[in-house]
Amino acid sequence: MTQTIYSRRGIPAVVNAAGTLTRLSGGPLAPGVAEAMAEAGQANVDMAELQAHASDVIAAVTGAEAGCVASGAAAGLTLAAAACMAGLEPALMARLPRTGGMKNEVIVARSQRNGYDHAVRAAGARLVEVGLPELQSGAGGRDTEPSDYADAITGRTAAILYVADRWTRPGLEEVVKAARAHEVPVIVDAAAQLPPQQNLRRFVAQGADLVVFSGGKALGGPSGTGLLIGRRRLVMSALLQMLDMDVDGALWNPPARLIDRALLSGVPRHGIGRGFKVSKQDIIGLLTALEHFVAEGDAVRHARWLARCRAILDGIDGQARAVATISGADDTGAIPRLELAFATAQAAMDVARRLLALDPPVHLDTSLAFRGGLAVNPQCLGPTQTGHVAAALRAALA
Ligand SMILES: *Cc1c(COP(=O)(O)O)cnc(C)c1O
Repeated sequence: MTQTIYSRRGIPAVVNAAGTLTRLSGGPLAPGVAEAMAEAGQANVDMAELQAHASDVIAAVTGAEAGCVASGAAAGLTLAAAACMAGLEPALMARLPRTGGMKNEVIVARSQRNGYDHAVRAAGARLVEVGLPELQSGAGGRDTEPSDYADAITGRTAAILYVADRWTRPGLEEVVKAARAHEVPVIVDAAAQLPPQQNLRRFVAQGADLVVFSGGKALGGPSGTGLLIGRRRLVMSALLQMLDMDVDGALWNPPARLIDRALLSGVPRHGIGRGFKVSKQDIIGLLTALEHFVAEGDAVRHARWLARCRAILDGIDGQARAVATISGADDTGAIPRLELAFATAQAAMDVARRLLALDPPVHLDTSLAFRGGLAVNPQCLGPTQTGHVAAALRAALA
């Protein structure tokens, strides 16, 4: 194995065929990102001005009124909830995560509950579950319906949380319609909804008030970054609750196009998101990655990933313990994957375990192992790693 900065420090190597998991350090940095970050680290800048520039770039790319860089999509969710609950009121910002007496309920479909919604609760919000996911029990095919949201909205509702996925029901536009009727903002968790590139604009165009994307997944930015985009007043609130606020009010002069002092009754103190600070390098890194992501386009990205999947499929040819197919091969907006279907969950788990016991361990996407499925996700594999993964798979399948 070639030397890396990790191996020289004695840190074990991993082969990541699992995807852009935070646990495995996220995706590879896009070309030019590391260089831009190194240069960014060499000078000082006013962080509010840097975030205002980021907002301009993000707005142009996404069609949102404004945007900012946070320390991940999860941080973006906490900030989004904080913005929806506290608005532009410094006294309310100061109280978080205590929300007694405030609008503090966030409505979410039962079928969309997941570990990341802890980030919403962390701001002090209480999740109110609605809907019935009937598919899992085999009791039917229905899920949450727009009326379930509408029925749950009360004077205490601060927001609706919508976890976007290709198949999320109901559609976002229907949820927005129910929310708008009561002037309730909709927060969309779109952390892993790139590609397709179109999704950078889609959720905002469909009426979402705030949307979060991970910076360290397909975007190719630093793993410790995320985008929070949406309505200007909400982004302003989120930013005020994240930025360093050790300022003298008499001297504070933030960029008015993003932080309009005229809308504030006072100068907020450090907010609930102060611990989510992002460095100047991280902000420049994510902006560079975003620009590269848009310039590269879905087709080129898809062809690169598909070539990796095909190389590995060719390399394991003839191993009969699993049925191997490439999913998403014909859809340039998808992430193609080499999928292995086993007769039992046990068989899939055995192969996953065998690969993890190698040196270096080979990580596959095991999210469907419970039903006998393993997948090779090509996003984090370099061109020289496909042979290694194919050889390891061939041996594990033999
Ligand atoms: C990855 C992910 C997150 C968290 O994103 P980070 O950028 O790692 O904070 C949140 N929600 C969903 C659905 C995700 O897939």
